[in-house]
Amino acid sequence: MNYASCQDCANVADRYITEAVTSDERVAIAHHLLACQPCRDYLESYENTVYIVQSLGRRPEFTMGKELVPESLIEAILAKRAE
Ligand SMILES: [Zn+2]
Repeated sequence: MNYASCQDCANVADRYITEAVTSDERVAIAHHLLACQPCRDYLESYENTVYIVQSLGRRPEFTMGKELVPESLIEAILAKRAE
């Protein structure tokens, strides 16, 4: 793989972000990413997705509702609307 295409980037995305690519692949992909904004965006969002999934896996008790909107805030909003 001397010159990576966008398809190559998609194919190795999971291995690229976990650094499981060969050094040849890494160089080829890195060169492609320098010239290709869509693939940079793609790998960045892919990496974020994997990070979120992994952090969810480490914290099985995690629920989005509780983390983002505390119960006290919900009660305060409901109280405000009832006025
Ligand atoms: Zn590309």
